[in-house]
Amino acid sequence: MLLTISTTHDPATDLGYLVHKNPARMQEFNLSFGTARVFYPEATEAQCTVALLLEIDPIGLVRNRRGPAGEGRSLEQYVNDRPYVASSFLSVAIADVFGSALAGKSKDRPDLVARPIPLSATLAVVRARSGGEDLLRRLFEPLGYVVDTDGYPLEEMFPEWGDSPYFTLRLSAIKTVKELLTHLYVLIPVLDGDKHYWIGDDEVEKLLRHGEGWLSEHPEKELITRRYLKYRRTLIDDALERLVSDGDGRLEELSSTEALEEEEVERKISLNEQRLGAVLAALKQTGAVKVLDLGCGEGRLLGALLRESQFAEIVGMDVSHRALEIAADKLYLERMPPMQRQRISLLHGSLIYRDRRLEGFGAAAVVEVIEHLDPPRLAAFERALFEFAKPGTAVITTPNAEYNVKWETLPAGKFRHGDHRFEWTRAQFTEWATSVAGRFGYTVRFGSVGPEDGILGPPTQMGIFTRG
Ligand code: SAH
Repeated sequence: MLLTISTTHDPATDLGYLVHKNPARMQEFNLSFGTARVFYPEATEAQCTVALLLEIDPIGLVRNRRGPAGEGRSLEQYVNDRPYVASSFLSVAIADVFGSALAGKSKDRPDLVARPIPLSATLAVVRARSGGEDLLRRLFEPLGYVVDTDGYPLEEMFPEWGDSPYFTLRLSAIKTVKELLTHLYVLIPVLDGDKHYWIGDDEVEKLLRHGEGWLSEHPEKELITRRYLKYRRTLIDDALERLVSDGDGRLEELSSTEALEEEEVERKISLNEQRLGAVLAALKQTGAVKVLDLGCGEGRLLGALLRESQFAEIVGMDVSHRALEIAADKLYLERMPPMQRQRISLLHGSLIYRDRRLEGFGAAAVVEVIEHLDPPRLAAFERALFEFAKPGTAVITTPNAEYNVKWETLPAGKFRHGDHRFEWTRAQFTEWATSVAGRFGYTVRFGSVGPEDGILGPPTQMGIFTRG
């Protein structure tokens, strides 16, 4: 993990006083999880940079049970991103190594401490899993930083695997060193999903202390609080309540729905993944060589299909130009090697019209799409898919409305997504699917996706239609 902080303040070497570290020598600190080194890659009057390099010992983490939890004896305990990605370890190192600066103290130059100076900070690698670059901006821009990021593909050799959740993050602003360190201290663990230590009541105190003067005004304070406290509900409530009371009491106005939606989205991540896995398995089972992804959206299933050599021809279709553009971007279509590139095409079209380009396919996926269609258009969709395109197998998924009461955050009677035109119970979906299958010469069997509730069923329902 590498954090560098630079300034062009005149003289720039004042930075040494501000962080209490002599530019002329390298210092080493032994922390419980590894070694921190502080050194200055450059230290001139015009420009000065201090670097905090944290080397984490992944094997030590396993021995001390601080590595990724719950994998038993898997390789992931030893081979993971913990040594490289800015995480709560880095926050602890900031507090240990730059403790006085974080507290806003300078023995030698107390006059300097309160003076905002031009600062820029680079975090060599941060992980922003959900939200990516957008999340980085939402966190740092309201604090007055100019945010600059570089994203990375998951694997340069296989661009079709898509983007990685890793970014290099550069922040610049005119701030005090204390402000910069405090923002980093709180927001680094917010970005990173893992927290290496137990979250107890004292974490609320730490958050409030380091958030003093900025967190209560931050438009994303709820998201920051939730993530910092790793979704521990009672702690979050406590922190938010207290945050507002030292702010200006705008709790009602700052409705929490947006933040809750995000939590919802995050919880759906694993549901999305499970859905993708279930659909992919069903498609593979058909033995199809040519597959359609209808309403492909931003192309997540397409990426997974590309990874399976079974599928020689993959076609994604969507009514949204924007979604197709994003899909093309995420799949790196333009940089794809020709052999790969010829396996996939993206079509613009609507599922409610007959489209000859969709004929002759072994299988089709229609994942979380039908609920976006106006009910009076369903009949047209049924014909377009089952009478005209006529894939050997069609895999259709849609939310199970019964399960909605389980999403604590979803107000009663609301759909999971603003654009949903309907959400069906299992009985409604079964009735529709059975009737459609009967009319168009298909048989249908049902599957479920996600953790199944004994009474309410699974969050997502799936119908697998096979032609006659
Ligand atoms: N299948 C994707 C996207 C689901 S969101 C996934 O699982 O991630 C629903 C998608 O259906 C959106 O991308 C939307 O643009 C698309 N869609 C909605 N109406 C459509 C129509 N009439 N024809 C084709 N696509 C449609």
